[in-house]
Amino acid sequence: MLGEGIVKGLAETARNFFGSYAEKDRLTTVQFPEERLPQAEAARVFPFLVYDTDDMEKGLRCVACKICEVECPPKCITIEKSTEKKPDFTGKPQFFPEKFEIDVSVCMSCQICVEVCPFEAIKMDTAFELSTDDRFGGLHWPKERLAKPNEYYHQIHPMEAAAVDEQLAEKKAKAEEKHVPAAAQAEGAAAR
Ligand code: SF4
Ligand code: SF4
Repeated sequence: MLGEGIVKGLAETARNFFGSYAEKDRLTTVQFPEERLPQAEAARVFPFLVYDTDDMEKGLRCVACKICEVECPPKCITIEKSTEKKPDFTGKPQFFPEKFEIDVSVCMSCQICVEVCPFEAIKMDTAFELSTDDRFGGLHWPKERLAKPNEYYHQIHPMEAAAVDEQLAEKKAKAEEKHVPAAAQAEGAAAR
């Protein structure tokens, strides 16, 4: 029948319109900003840098390997690697980024930096109310603005952050196993 599709479409629209007064599920919008929908765990906006403990300088996981800088498609990451190592929060000497900056006016939220980072140091943030009238300074985010604690990562991506913590703990345990002094190993063997 001619126009059958149009009639069906209008009927569906009417069903949703009137149904939204009776069924909450049919009401797909909310009165933002007074009311907010919870964000999906997989939501992503711009990257942030994760740090452990409460000391950003020591706890930053980034070791300035620059892989993300090279792999970022629009080249919006700028890193200056330190010339010397300093102890991280575990006491291990590490290089660190003297400068780590993202130009968020160029970032396309592709998450490639996250995928390529071997140190679980960069993750995607979900914060989205970021408008600014400072076109230059406001859109070049320095390390100090990008750095956020692991607790924050757990708040916005709980399942992913828990899995990452587990992986890091496994890696740490394996690394510690390798470094068990030979004497201790011999002692263990003798005891057996
Ligand atoms: S965020 Fe990851 S990939 Fe990028 S420089 Fe730091 S450690 Fe390397
Ligand atoms: S999300 Fe994509 S565009 Fe943005 S900094 Fe990471 S790699 Fe670059």
